[in-house]
Amino acid sequence: MFQRNNNVDKELDQVVRAMVKEAKQEYDGVLPIMQAGEPVLRTPSADYVGQLAPKTFASLIEVMRTTMLDAPGVGLAAPQIGLGLRFAVLEDHVSEQELADMREQGIEDPRESAELPFRVIINPSYTPIGQETRSFYEGCLSVEGYQAVRKRWLDIDAQWTDEHGKQHREQMHGWPARIFQHETDHLHGELYIDKAQLRSLSADELLGEYWYDPVPTEAARELGFTLE
Ligand code: ZN
Repeated sequence: MFQRNNNVDKELDQVVRAMVKEAKQEYDGVLPIMQAGEPVLRTPSADYVGQLAPKTFASLIEVMRTTMLDAPGVGLAAPQIGLGLRFAVLEDHVSEQELADMREQGIEDPRESAELPFRVIINPSYTPIGQETRSFYEGCLSVEGYQAVRKRWLDIDAQWTDEHGKQHREQMHGWPARIFQHETDHLHGELYIDKAQLRSLSADELLGEYWYDPVPTEAARELGFTLE
């Protein structure tokens, strides 16, 4: 669908090629990440229909992945690098050792983390499956230095198109479902803080010091918010 060259916006294509070139030549393939306050983060993005030439798109995806891993983060949406187009990259890995250690100690992972292989999600959407939600601390590369508790759907029906134009529909659960929701929301001009428990807002370094328990019961009591 988006490989048709007649949808290419030549001006935009040139801008993106220059962005990618600069990132590769000057910054080890890392793009600057827009911070909250940039209008592009608050503007609903346009459907991606091949506004970029296939080669430009492929090299952009490569630098978006490098940027995400460098941050480090587990997702990066196009508006976060200043592009109002509906796509994002995702990738999260769980250490098998960590999971085995937890099992051995009889600890369940309340976040329900799971392998999320590298994915390009184009024009993604989701709908909840059931009504179950979970509330955990969550952060965003565009709201640097802070995290807050955000309630999310536990299970979703996720749909997207990949970089080869193939359509996907998958049921996602737990932490990977949270990442998918977070990145898809970026494409609507939302930030996770819009629906977060604002009283839970915590600087990253304090999170490690006080609120490392993944279930934020104590944070709710001490900081004064309702854990839903
Ligand atoms: Zn984000």
